[in-house]
Amino acid sequence: VHRRAARVQEGFGRLSQFVEESVAGIRVVKVFGQEQARMEQFRRLAAEQQERQMELVSVQSAAGPVTEGAVGLAFAALLGVGGPLVLAGRIHLGQFVAFAGYVGLLAWPLGSLGWLMNLWQRGSASWQRLQAILHTPPQVVDPPGVVAMPAPVRGHLEVRGLTFTYPGARRPALHDLSFQVRPGEVVAITGPSGSGKSTLVQLLLRLWEPPEGSIFLDGVDVRRLPLQELRRHLAWVPQEGFLFSGTLADNVAFGAPESPDGMPPAELERLGRLAGLHPDVEGFPDGYGSWVGERGLALSGGQRQRVAIARALARRAAVFLLDDPFSSVDGDTEHRVLEGLLQELAGRTVLLVSHRISVVRRACRILVLHQGRLVEEGSHEELLARGGLYARMAALQRLEEELNFRPGPTTQLQEVCGGARPVEPAG
Ligand code: ADP
Repeated sequence: VHRRAARVQEGFGRLSQFVEESVAGIRVVKVFGQEQARMEQFRRLAAEQQERQMELVSVQSAAGPVTEGAVGLAFAALLGVGGPLVLAGRIHLGQFVAFAGYVGLLAWPLGSLGWLMNLWQRGSASWQRLQAILHTPPQVVDPPGVVAMPAPVRGHLEVRGLTFTYPGARRPALHDLSFQVRPGEVVAITGPSGSGKSTLVQLLLRLWEPPEGSIFLDGVDVRRLPLQELRRHLAWVPQEGFLFSGTLADNVAFGAPESPDGMPPAELERLGRLAGLHPDVEGFPDGYGSWVGERGLALSGGQRQRVAIARALARRAAVFLLDDPFSSVDGDTEHRVLEGLLQELAGRTVLLVSHRISVVRRACRILVLHQGRLVEEGSHEELLARGGLYARMAALQRLEEELNFRPGPTTQLQEVCGGARPVEPAG
């Protein structure tokens, strides 16, 4: 029962995952004309599951007849052995009847014991599967002997000889990376897709564990800081702009957990305007009270990204990590939002990651990554003059813009270096 129950559980997991994916990806399934194929796959999985279930049931259902049969045999033995003893006068009839009564009393507990064993085995199979999840140790934990962050947090970032390989990967995703971002400075990071930009951001956030002595915030190795303390000073706009099912307001206020009663409407609107979200929200029937659907699916990709920007702004952290925040936003909105954002974030440390030259050119220091290595560094003009990877990326994107008839910025844009205003203490 134990072995078969575990197989049933596994099969049920596989079947549920298949259904969940098919429903979540229903548009992809339909457009690629895969309805029939998915249906066939589902039928196969369901038939396998039925087989497993039957294997379990066949053993389980044997438990009843076996215990009842055992009781029947006991009575047969009682008659076969006890009967002649009574006839021979070796025991009294009363003793025989009493003994038969006791055997009868045992029948029900014996049946229950079989049922209990059955249930026990099924339960223990489920429990073992749960244990595998519950007892998975987190890979990133607070180390012993953690130090507190020196206050006030200035937002000085330093990456020193950082090499990082994903578990199981053959090549490092980042290779001997070193750079510094001074408090309040705006630094952009660019590079082709797969060059390690997101990996770097995730290491700064300690979503993956960086090697010791490779990343420092205000001179403290991030590996020595309590995770909550470190992340309190970092605001992050993730590339995919993940949202939770709830209202727009809930999702923005998520960034500011210190205001549990919700965010004042005026502040919500201010952040919405800064993130370029407000014009869209005005068109929604319930404004910021509008429902965003599961994972924010009722919004467009660009709207989700802008909610994620507003959520990060609500955080008031010393360091802002923007991971390709405009990848799904059109050029005009990108310029408008970036402008407001850089003004709002003046004085905070900003790491602006993007593969779009139109975004990164706004920073006066740009780091260019290629295959996990830092290959170029400088301002937009310097990097163009150098004629390297950055210049090639810029030329390619310019060509793309012309082919798409997408007008570039009409005015000469001012580079932003940051560091102009004193840094406010975070948190
Ligand atoms: P970028 O953000 O510049 O597009 P990424 O940092 O996402 O690049 O990826 C850098 C490299 O790391 C790629 O080769 C990618 O395949 C690999 N990579 C990214 N995430 C993972 C992961 N979770 N596990 C293993 N390899 C990964």
